[in-house]
Amino acid sequence: MAVKNGQLPSSLLVRTSDGDLLVASAAASYERLNREFTKKFGKRLTITDGYRSLARQHDMFDDLGYPKAAYPGQSNHGLGIACDFGSGVNTYTSAEHRWMDTVGRRHGWIPLWESLGKKRNDFEPWHWVHVPSKDRYPFRKVSVNGRLDVATTFALQRALGRPVTDGSSAAGHLALWKAIQRRLNKRLAGTKGFKPLTVDGKAGPATIRALQTWLRRVLPILRRPKVDGVFGPNTVKALQRALNARRF
Ligand SMILES: [Zn+2]
Repeated sequence: MAVKNGQLPSSLLVRTSDGDLLVASAAASYERLNREFTKKFGKRLTITDGYRSLARQHDMFDDLGYPKAAYPGQSNHGLGIACDFGSGVNTYTSAEHRWMDTVGRRHGWIPLWESLGKKRNDFEPWHWVHVPSKDRYPFRKVSVNGRLDVATTFALQRALGRPVTDGSSAAGHLALWKAIQRRLNKRLAGTKGFKPLTVDGKAGPATIRALQTWLRRVLPILRRPKVDGVFGPNTVKALQRALNARRF
């Protein structure tokens, strides 16, 4: 699955509580950031713009031109990792912007100038980019709900070591499953009948069976999933329990 800027499959995108689309790691981080922001400023942290499809990038480029709009296919909005924030963050000298520059950074968000490798400047103060490897949010248990939701994806990325969906490699899903395959190959090495998985990022039946085999090994008897190669709610629940027990 080749993933291109502005052409992310919908399976990679999560709708935030503010209505915009982002990749799972950025969306999870945004929700935490929004909670802290609301506590501090008594208002929501609004997103003016999140994921931008290639078609929208073309439209914006036609309307605004460079540098107000990036060249189509080059905006990190097209990777689902960038947000244009409102709520005061969009003003370079505001308290909200300063907050973003300290607290936002702890959640892995860096300003545009830094993402471009430039010196500090006031160009597009609203534009921030999420970098999972810089996100220092502590481990939290996820709810065992059988859904591969934002929190679970994030916990999984954490457990697998970071970065998984860093920078321009917005092929988040693919990278995630590759990391899972590598982890399972390590965990199950030497197990009778186990053939090392091809690390291709595809969550096929062999990968799911290996995952289920590993989960059966770390979970108590009554919580063990069936080894059927199907990535359904029961397997996700088992995965969530293993993550919560720090056994993945
Ligand atoms: Zn932007």
